[in-house]
Amino acid sequence: MYIYNSASRTKEEFIPYTEGKVKMYTCGPTVYHYAHIGNLRTYIMEDVLEKYLRFTGFDVTRVMNITDVGHLTSDGDTGDDKMLKGAKREHKTVMEIAKFYTDAFFADCAKLGIKTPDVVEPATGCIDEFIKVISSLIEKGYAYEAGGNIYFDTSKLDKYYVFNDFTEEDLAVGVRDGVEADENKRNKADFVLWFTKSKFEDQELKWDSPWGVGYPGWHIECSCISMKHLGEYLDLHCGGIDNQFPHHTNEIAQSEAFLGHEWCKYWFHVHHLNTNDGKMSKSKGEFLTVSLLEEKGYDPLAYRFFCLQSHYRKNLVFTWENLDNAAEAYKKLAARVAQILDGKGGSVNEAKYAELKGAFTEALDNDLNTAQAVTAIYDVLKSDADNATKLKLIEDFDTVLSLGLVKEAEKLSEKKEGGELPAEIAELAEKRAAARKAKDFALADELRKQITDLGYIVEETRQGTVIRKA
Ligand code: AMP
Ligand code: ZN
Repeated sequence: MYIYNSASRTKEEFIPYTEGKVKMYTCGPTVYHYAHIGNLRTYIMEDVLEKYLRFTGFDVTRVMNITDVGHLTSDGDTGDDKMLKGAKREHKTVMEIAKFYTDAFFADCAKLGIKTPDVVEPATGCIDEFIKVISSLIEKGYAYEAGGNIYFDTSKLDKYYVFNDFTEEDLAVGVRDGVEADENKRNKADFVLWFTKSKFEDQELKWDSPWGVGYPGWHIECSCISMKHLGEYLDLHCGGIDNQFPHHTNEIAQSEAFLGHEWCKYWFHVHHLNTNDGKMSKSKGEFLTVSLLEEKGYDPLAYRFFCLQSHYRKNLVFTWENLDNAAEAYKKLAARVAQILDGKGGSVNEAKYAELKGAFTEALDNDLNTAQAVTAIYDVLKSDADNATKLKLIEDFDTVLSLGLVKEAEKLSEKKEGGELPAEIAELAEKRAAARKAKDFALADELRKQITDLGYIVEETRQGTVIRKA
């Protein structure tokens, strides 16, 4: 597989440090509010990447942090402390907010077909690791204390701006229009590793440390959580494009200073989902969440389909019209798969299977070209392959794309079957399908019994549920 590495700014063949094994790290959400569908674009594309690596035979271990403490990088930070702000908004404690929005994040992910990473670690669970790494950075001369905070000294590095050709004058952390500079810093780009003093004095969560009671800066959490679970060498680090600077730049600075060698081989950055008036935001304009899509009658998987139709290294513009088009195309696609289900039979033709699968892997091998991978689904449907081969291909592609096409098609087939049934039976069948979807098997069994008591047989087939008169 070839993948664009933001660190080298070229497409490179993906070769992990250890043959066959991939250590993958993902910057997780800051859990102060619901994720917007822009955030979720990033997680959808990372999910496809992880699943494709598994599809091609790699043994992947994926770790994600949860930012549940602070989100601060310097005392002149423009940002509010997002966690504190969330807690104040909802009159809850920071930990209550973190728990609620972590659960909400994974519920959204589940609806979008995003797999939960193997390890999910909240920053508040790793304070000892942060202290250990920061102490070592001070010892090695990469960090200093000033005004009660511990800063990373970026002037100690040969190359600090890894992803971009910035200079200190172009861009400096926390020094933007209308923002006070942090006078403690030796260099503009220095960033805080540990706070004991900040303008956010009412910080709820604080821990004891060799430098006084305080709390960690944002960047240190990802370096430490990654090293804790994945060791000294990381193959692949993911995030949204806005994470390149300063977040990932600072992660590299502190990790390599601590380890004394290269840390991460490949950097994968997903470009933004924007609205017509620019960047998506949780505070301005319509707050676009998965729940809002559902309220408006969209299947979350139609949004996933919308995302997969574009390459992850291009900005994507969200409009309701664009989503409507994707939702329509998604429905039509499922209807075509339903036709295959209805006429399925025979066995898989291996040669045809290999040929059509080749187009799919070729697309994803080329820097995760999901748009072309979606085209490969249409090519399967158009091809002269028999239905058994087509169905196997669609099912296999879906282990990566997670569009749930077969399930969606089964629902359509089920509806067709239900249409010939008396209304009472059809209603029970629908309720049973909903109970099965919600994994409420006790209720599903009870409904099955009600159906059979009324003189009908319920059969589960590869084509879906079939109900007929006994
Ligand atoms: P946050 O919860 O703010 O830490 O962001 C979670 C993830 O969403 C990060 O990887 C961000 O880079 C990414 N992200 C933020 N805004 C967008 C956007 N508009 N489109 C795509 N990804 C985004
Ligand atoms: Zn991170």
